[in-house]
Amino acid sequence: MDEIFDFCRRRSITSLRMTHQFPSLSPEQKKELSDIAQRIVAPGKGILAADESTGTMGKRLEKINVENNEEHRRYFRDLLFSTVDPNCVGGIIFFHETLYQKADSGKLFPQVIKDKGIVVGIKVDKGTAGLNGTDGETTTQGLDGLSERCAQYKKDGCDFAKWRCVLKISDGCPSALAIAENANVLARYASICQQNGLVPIVEPEILPDGAHDLKRCQYVSEKVLAAVYKALSDHHVYLEGTLLKPNMVTAGHSCTTKYTPQEVGMATVTALRRTVPAAVPGICFLSGGQSEEEASLNLNAINQVPLHRPWKLTFSYGRALQASALAAWAGKPANKAASQEAFSTRAKINGLASKGEYKSTGSADAASMQSLHTASYVY
Ligand code: 13P
Repeated sequence: MDEIFDFCRRRSITSLRMTHQFPSLSPEQKKELSDIAQRIVAPGKGILAADESTGTMGKRLEKINVENNEEHRRYFRDLLFSTVDPNCVGGIIFFHETLYQKADSGKLFPQVIKDKGIVVGIKVDKGTAGLNGTDGETTTQGLDGLSERCAQYKKDGCDFAKWRCVLKISDGCPSALAIAENANVLARYASICQQNGLVPIVEPEILPDGAHDLKRCQYVSEKVLAAVYKALSDHHVYLEGTLLKPNMVTAGHSCTTKYTPQEVGMATVTALRRTVPAAVPGICFLSGGQSEEEASLNLNAINQVPLHRPWKLTFSYGRALQASALAAWAGKPANKAASQEAFSTRAKINGLASKGEYKSTGSADAASMQSLHTASYVY
């Protein structure tokens, strides 16, 4: 061995040197992070993503002819939070504004959620920015001051965070630059979160825009996820204290071939088994514009794939948990109970799907079958 090092030194070869470990997290910090992650994805539970930015919320409210003002945004979130069932929802992702709003009861929202035993999360990214010289690809901003913001959010009751990166599939995309840049920024974000006691949800979303088939999405998903886990390792991120939020492997929105939930399930689990270490406690899918029912059927099929799955496979849905509740509410206080009922139904179904126990009756209503796809989706 000494001879090898001697040889390397004489030739100035440094890459054979062993890397050294410097302490990054104490055993107590690690335990706290892994306990939080485990609570969020306890059996039968998933995440409600209610962190739509003010602009995105505006688009949702516009569809039901409701003005996008602070009170309407608060009212709808109160409607969801006051009825959410902790048996099927383990975590809720907040947008900054919501974290400091109060429920009708006068309690701050994070307290309402914590009192139910649900973990409070916060979106910490600041949206996407173009990567010059690429075909409209992006990275995600928000690293400046992130550590201070995370420390404050922890004090204000948050125990996990979300950061969304976006990749797209086309002839030349995703480019090597977009894959590397987004993997690195996700790893840097994850490392900062963990230092501040927040479990990072790592979200490299590959958009469903395009006509590509299932195989192409699987191939790209594998390349993106492999890069993400290499970067997380390079940044010394503690995997047991993270959650992954990927797209399901599906064909592009305008692909003419239609695939069954079983095919989607097999392609998704295959891609994940090839790339995501077993140390990751949970994989919480985004719904990505699928209809509510499609997202539930696909999640159920994923949990029925006859292959070993070392992680929890569950949901972290925004649109696919809220669409029929929003439609039922339509901005009218008289519809509050009906809206809450619609939300509870979807949450319950997805809780079952996260265990592979959802038996569709085939009688889903029209609202839950409606596609929720928006091209170049901005969150
Ligand atoms: P959708 O489930 O609506 O895709 O969004 C979830 C999310 O949090 C995206 O960042």
